[in-house]
Amino acid sequence: MPSPPTLTRRSLLKNLGVAAAVVSGAALVRPADAADAPLLAADSPEARAVQYTEDARSAKAAAPGATCGSCALYQGAYGSAAGPCQLFPGKSVKASGWCSSWAAQM
Ligand code: SF4
Repeated sequence: MPSPPTLTRRSLLKNLGVAAAVVSGAALVRPADAADAPLLAADSPEARAVQYTEDARSAKAAAPGATCGSCALYQGAYGSAAGPCQLFPGKSVKASGWCSSWAAQM
């Protein structure tokens, strides 16, 4: 029967290094950084595919009060003018915007 693995100082330091790298990597994609992402161009193909507009008031299909800022997929801070959207990784959308994928917050 093999003996149980022993925790050596070397393996402990190695594992701590891996854990530190994972934690620092996670910090690199925190929402604050994502909020600095460039704005989605309303005339880009991906935006047009979901009828994205920067002003929800101009969207005839938008329900009253339905804006990016009130959408479940919006990841900007409360009250922010723009922020990340789960639908458009690496891009920000205007809080006043809207698209056909708008979803009510739970
Ligand atoms: Fe705005 Fe929501 Fe559409 Fe993203 S999914 S663009 S937050 S309405």
